Amino acid sequence: MSGAVTVREGGCLCGAVRFRAKGEPVNVRICHCRNCQKATGAPFFARALFEQSALTVDGEVGRYASSEALDRIFCKTCGTRLFAWRSNGTVAGVALAAFDDHNVFEPTAHIWTSEKIDWVRLDDGLPQYPEAVPG
Ligand SMILES: [Zn+2]
Repeated sequence: MSGAVTVREGGCLCGAVRFRAKGEPVNVRICHCRNCQKATGAPFFARALFEQSALTVDGEVGRYASSEALDRIFCKTCGTRLFAWRSNGTVAGVALAAFDDHNVFEPTAHIWTSEKIDWVRLDDGLPQYPEAVPG
C-alpha cells in the first residue's frame, strides 16, 4: 500500500523491553569508537540511526551517560544494550542485532576506524572513516 509507514520491531534478550521503529533510518553505520566498544562490551556497535520521534520503547530501561552527548540505554533485567540516545533529543542509534529481523538493515559505512580493534578485518568494501562522516 503506497504511503504506508513501515514499522520494524525489536527487543532485548529477555523480552522485558520492546521497541518499534517507524519509517526508514537516517543512516546505518558501524561505529568502532572506544566509547561504543566499552558501552556495548563488543568490538564495534552496528546501529541504525533513527529520529527519536520515530521510536517507541516499552518496558523498564536503564540509562547511563557515556558522554555529554550520548546516553546508553539498556534493559534493566537482562542488560541488553539497545540504544545510543542523543541527550539533545534528536536521534538515537538502535542496535541492529536487537531487531526481530536482524537482517532488516545493512550498514553502509564504518566510522571511527581510527579506534578500531586491530584484529577486526574490514573487507566488505564499505567506505571507512577515521572519525565521524565528514559534513
Ligand atoms: Zn531484557
